[in-house]
Amino acid sequence: MAKTPYEIAVIPGDGIGPEVVDAALAVLEECERRYGIALACTPYDFSAELYRRTGRKITAADMDEIGERFDAVLFGAMGLPDVRGPEGLELGAQVEMRAHYGLFASLRPVRLFEGVEGPLTSRDVDMLVIRETSEGMFAGLGDAHEPSDETATDRMTITRATCEKLFDVAFSQARARRKRGTPGHVTLLHKSNALRSNVLMEKVFDEVAAANDDIGSAKHYIDVGSMYMVTDPARYDVIVTENIFGDITSEIAAGIAGGLGIAPSADVSLDHGVFQPSHGSAPDIAGQGVANPTAMILSAAMMLEWLGEQHADETATAVAQRIQSAVETMLAAGTTRPRDLGGEAGTREVADAVIDALA
Ligand code: NAD
Ligand code: MN
Repeated sequence: MAKTPYEIAVIPGDGIGPEVVDAALAVLEECERRYGIALACTPYDFSAELYRRTGRKITAADMDEIGERFDAVLFGAMGLPDVRGPEGLELGAQVEMRAHYGLFASLRPVRLFEGVEGPLTSRDVDMLVIRETSEGMFAGLGDAHEPSDETATDRMTITRATCEKLFDVAFSQARARRKRGTPGHVTLLHKSNALRSNVLMEKVFDEVAAANDDIGSAKHYIDVGSMYMVTDPARYDVIVTENIFGDITSEIAAGIAGGLGIAPSADVSLDHGVFQPSHGSAPDIAGQGVANPTAMILSAAMMLEWLGEQHADETATAVAQRIQSAVETMLAAGTTRPRDLGGEAGTREVADAVIDALA
């Protein structure tokens, strides 16, 4: 059922996280004024910076509270290269939240928008990379581990249960995208020639593809598939793959569509969602007001789209569409161009241009 208001936990995080989150909240507030949607946003200040100052980091109890109280989490970016826990790994709540909420799919759509120069000659870039985020190459993160200077091991594990859910999401996303003119096609990127776990992944993919034969499908080895993303991006509609392959290929996808500044993402399970840009905290440009908020704004739109689906709320779905169109209008007009896309506009100016385009 449509809810009013939706309860949203907002975690701005580190670096440019708070800057782009402010911009996205300004766009959402304008949508509340204009379109009759209501959001009750509650900020949480978890960050690597907080850990550096106080040793406090997000706990299972925090995540239980957030998971129970809120309909969705809007997340900026977390992590600073010099803030590390005892195992030498960076502090960031995104990996913990994926594990805690069982978020197994990270949806990362990119499109080469009108008005944006990509690095390729082909302008036919319109794909959704679905990265599995609960197992794969990150499966061993919780394993017992003896620190050593001689050997260190990570573990790739693939399960049938996660593959089935993941590929169901991939085929339904392809079906949903087809309504706006995409081909309706899913490609598995894998390495079943060399990794046992990937033999199982391929087998389950074949089964799910056979059960969804209204949608075309293909399989490429991850290596050549990565090359095709650059040489022939038109091959791809939905790409689905395991954790580390998806981490990497989603950033190739972002790169050929104009960069991380415009690449959103949604980490979802069947009933929880964390919405954040694909980029990190960008310490190199933090605090200058120059970060491109587009990826964050599009992530907020993905949140409304997801809330719309979860609660059968056409208003939320329609507002998500309006935000996407406003971003398209802003980029196509070219009068307000973010710095990473070759312009001069700062974070707030870009947000204001999106707000103007909502009119
Ligand atoms: P990054 O995504 O933060 O930055 C990579 C490059 O892209 C930088 O040059 C940066 O300036 C640029 N960039 C990123 N977002 C931009 C934006 N919105 N507008 C303009 N330019 C943008 O990746 P990194 O430098 O590898 O990592 C920095 C920190 O972020 C690390 O601590 C890393 O662990 C963390 N990180 C967090 C997340 C997350 O919160 N989900 C994801 C990736 C990295
Ligand atoms: Mn990444």
